[in-house]
Amino acid sequence: MAKLRVRVYNVRFGDAVLVTIPDRAPNGSVAKRHMLIDVGNVLSGAGGADELFRPVLADIQKQLAGQPLDLYVMTHEHLDHIQGLFYGAEKLGVRFNVTHAWLTASAAPDYYDTHPEAKRKRLQMEAAYEQIAQFLRAAPELETPYVRALMHNNNPRDTGQCVDYLRSLAQKTTYVHRGVDLTGAHPFQEAQFEVWAPEEDTADYYRGLVPMALAVSPDSGASALPGLTEPLPPAGVDAGAFYNLVEMRRRGYGSNLLAIDRAANNTSVVVSLEWRGWRLLFPGDAEYRSWKMMEQHGVLQPVQFLKISHHGSHNGTPDVELLDKVLPPRAGRRRRRAVLSTYPDTYGGVPDAETLALIQSRCAVTSVEGLTDGAYVDIEFTG
Ligand SMILES: [Zn+2]
Repeated sequence: MAKLRVRVYNVRFGDAVLVTIPDRAPNGSVAKRHMLIDVGNVLSGAGGADELFRPVLADIQKQLAGQPLDLYVMTHEHLDHIQGLFYGAEKLGVRFNVTHAWLTASAAPDYYDTHPEAKRKRLQMEAAYEQIAQFLRAAPELETPYVRALMHNNNPRDTGQCVDYLRSLAQKTTYVHRGVDLTGAHPFQEAQFEVWAPEEDTADYYRGLVPMALAVSPDSGASALPGLTEPLPPAGVDAGAFYNLVEMRRRGYGSNLLAIDRAANNTSVVVSLEWRGWRLLFPGDAEYRSWKMMEQHGVLQPVQFLKISHHGSHNGTPDVELLDKVLPPRAGRRRRRAVLSTYPDTYGGVPDAETLALIQSRCAVTSVEGLTDGAYVDIEFTG
């Protein structure tokens, strides 16, 4: 019996998944092919530790045994998914020979030229990010480890260089979205792939920015730090109500930072892999909005393997009604499993115990938590 193997590495707060697939050609010959999904972790706090990429990349090389990597998938443009291969190339001199790569559609170099509404919303998000960055420089006491992780993960400059690197990683790069034609986009003959998300136009994922008035005085020079200005209530306005409003708008930075984070998560490539009767789902960090759109487009189907989305956050797993489509309460005859890739005390409330309990009520869950850095868990499927 042949075995398909999903290897999930402990990269602390991030994802790195290597899938090894015995792929049978129509003439009966079987090739061992590899798909690598993401490789990254956050740059801040306990969840980040770049040294662990050394053993992870070494193991991936060992598994490839001199063959090229058949398919690399970049789910979305967050450092905890993209910085590992760039780090490997820059700092460790480790480069992979990759034949095909899939990057999320909105990572295409000309994407925002052809999608004006997505561009408009993305620019709003970037402007909000810059405002928040200035605000946190003026009020550093508000920069908790969680806020710092969010800021790093969503920094357009840092992600830009990693994405540039990944765009040139493979001999052939395809920017993928739901409904994309995958003909010629991978060398697999037996294994079947479907991209369930994201939508080709990402404009709908950018929502939820609240008005912010952070009252930061402009940076007066390269060396000067911005300061917080203290606005005065206009004549005739109740001072208490006025300062409450100022405070509320300042607090809007937290909710906007989450909206920025969520928008990028929802551009995650959600890929389903079918092999000898098994269906495996790798949803990156897709959050609720993306699950809802998958449901609206009728692509959700029962799976026997789930890479739990977004490190086990409350938002990464749909509520029961939608989860029923992916992991129905009654299992079929094949055993179902899920893997959690996460690290505690990095992102507020992640992983979420209630969410994990819900998934555990449907299938066995394995976590990389507690493994040594760079170690892995293997899940195997016999076919
Ligand atoms: Zn992530």
